[in-house]
Amino acid sequence: DPRLQGISDAIRVVPHFPKPGIMFNDITALLLRPGVFKDAVDMFVERYKGMAIAAVAGIEARGFMFGPAIALAIGAKFIPLRKPGKLPGEVISESYVLEYGTDCLEMHVGAIEAGERVVVVDDLVATGGTLSAAIRLIERAGADVVECACLIGLPKFKVRTRSYLVLPLFQNIRC
Ligand code: IMP
Repeated sequence: DPRLQGISDAIRVVPHFPKPGIMFNDITALLLRPGVFKDAVDMFVERYKGMAIAAVAGIEARGFMFGPAIALAIGAKFIPLRKPGKLPGEVISESYVLEYGTDCLEMHVGAIEAGERVVVVDDLVATGGTLSAAIRLIERAGADVVECACLIGLPKFKVRTRSYLVLPLFQNIRC
């Protein structure tokens, strides 16, 4: 798809952020270019339109930048999966392991109903740990994760991410 090159070019790779040795894929540069931003959203919308998706679940924070646009375009609800302590209502939570320590995602009880078909959205998949926690949350509510959608996949994790039904728009070969 010719749109992929433009999307790839619009993502800035920032060395040594937030820590020395990390090559950070910065999607905020893409958000500044409405045509490219729209291309990225459109590519997901084209894939999920007509698939009876009831909900798009976005992972805090960069999943919030793409998820709502995709949800509106396919006629689905948007569910924020948030870091601990941010959602005011009753929540269910799932912890996951990071390189150093653990983190956690929370979802409001009642946001999703059993049997609903869900797409999970984030900007980037590396190990798949974050997406796996999101999948566990949604499955605990009795819903089905149809696919996980990300803009970027890191090539060194390609094999592991496959088992999580992940669709990255492209593999970032620059990092
Ligand atoms: P994973 O859990 O190892 O797959 O890491 C994916 C999570 O880390 C996502 O929520 C990403 O937003 C975040 N992340 C990791 N590396 C980067 C990066 O280079 N740019 C932006 N987000 C990143």
